[in-house]
Amino acid sequence: MLIDIITIFPDIFRPYFDESILKIAQNKNKLKIRLRDVRDYTLDAHRKVDDRPFGGGPGMVMAPEPIFRAVEKIRRRKKAKIILLSPQGKTLNQKLAQKLSHCRHLILICGRYEGVDERVREALADEEISIGDYVLTGGELAAMVLVDAVARLIPGVLGDEDSARLESYSENLLEYPQYTRPADFRGMRVPRILLSGNHKKIEEWRSKEALKTTRKKRPDLLK
Ligand code: SAM
Repeated sequence: MLIDIITIFPDIFRPYFDESILKIAQNKNKLKIRLRDVRDYTLDAHRKVDDRPFGGGPGMVMAPEPIFRAVEKIRRRKKAKIILLSPQGKTLNQKLAQKLSHCRHLILICGRYEGVDERVREALADEEISIGDYVLTGGELAAMVLVDAVARLIPGVLGDEDSARLESYSENLLEYPQYTRPADFRGMRVPRILLSGNHKKIEEWRSKEALKTTRKKRPDLLK
């Protein structure tokens, strides 16, 4: 998968993308991330990316020209899905991450200030995605969350394919409780069944616990 990220702060991303699973995904050539500085696509000498809102009001709005030019340059050859990160978008969930993990090329547009000119939403973006009902300062964190959630679902990225399949939300259930050594920690014991070596019984226990946890914490998922 190729992911282009259009942003005014490309340097924000590297420390996160160069660690852990995302680093492995890139090293395995399962994922390529290109950071695109919106300022490189401006037409004026001052590399200005924003302007005052028509009609007045606080703050600045990201101008359409550099964003359109960036997308037009990037997608010249390939079909890409263009996503605008926005608090007004469809909320990202595991199902949407799974759908996006099948795309060959994503172009993510990160807004700043008061947001982006409406014409980017209307005439450029294929989809508008939010990471939750709150307002962030910019789309960069949202883009990182999206890339992380999607990249780990690309086949071959996680060492064990079952890790993604068995995780919370993958089958509308939350995950069963997990334990590691020691079996007895300050008097708190690991359920005996997990030490039994009986895989069928362990599987049954995990299914039951996943259902119990979901019913308790997120009953809405079971509807
Ligand atoms: N004035 C806008 C509004 O009220 O809807 C908020 C603009 S916000 C300060 C600046 C940028 O941050 C947005 O253009 C968007 O790219 C990003 N952003 C903020 N909250 C977000 C969220 N919950 N999910 C995704 N992106 C978000």
